[in-house]
Amino acid sequence: MNYCGRCGERTQHIIPEGDTRMRFVCTQCQHIFYENPRIIAGCLPCFEDQILLCQRAIEPRKGKWTLPAGFLENGESIQDGAVRETMEEANARVHSLELYTLFSLPHISQVYMFYRAQLTDLNFFAGDESLAVKLCSEDEIPWDELSFPVVTDTLKCYLADREKGTFPFRERVVQPLAKSS
Ligand SMILES: [Zn+2]
Repeated sequence: MNYCGRCGERTQHIIPEGDTRMRFVCTQCQHIFYENPRIIAGCLPCFEDQILLCQRAIEPRKGKWTLPAGFLENGESIQDGAVRETMEEANARVHSLELYTLFSLPHISQVYMFYRAQLTDLNFFAGDESLAVKLCSEDEIPWDELSFPVVTDTLKCYLADREKGTFPFRERVVQPLAKSS
């Protein structure tokens, strides 16, 4: 952020007085721009023994399979965001949401939250951000073609929990992937 979003003057990247972290601060109006983690809300939509997956039509990970999820909007509850994203990406209606997994990704300042949810009907179809949408049974999940580790982890937890018939809430911290040389 090189310019102030309020007055248009240059900003400096400094530690403001009384603070402990680097912030962008306007050199003119002195406004401090705080940047905080972004929340991504999504659903694990289920129908009988199947799970709804979306094939991404946009970068990053275009062509990979994912659970419907996206950035929470201002003025929106997390649960409403998860329902909206499921509608936008898969035109799928869900009900009976239960918060299931929460992932902190401090290295990219993101927090993912997935709800277990039940599909209300089977009239889903790919939204603008999806190439395709499909219901997968356990042996149909494209494990090598999943978009993000948080999606893989949520699906693995779900399948393991389903065996036991209990779905405890899970919170994890995700570390950056080791770069393969
Ligand atoms: Zn300013």
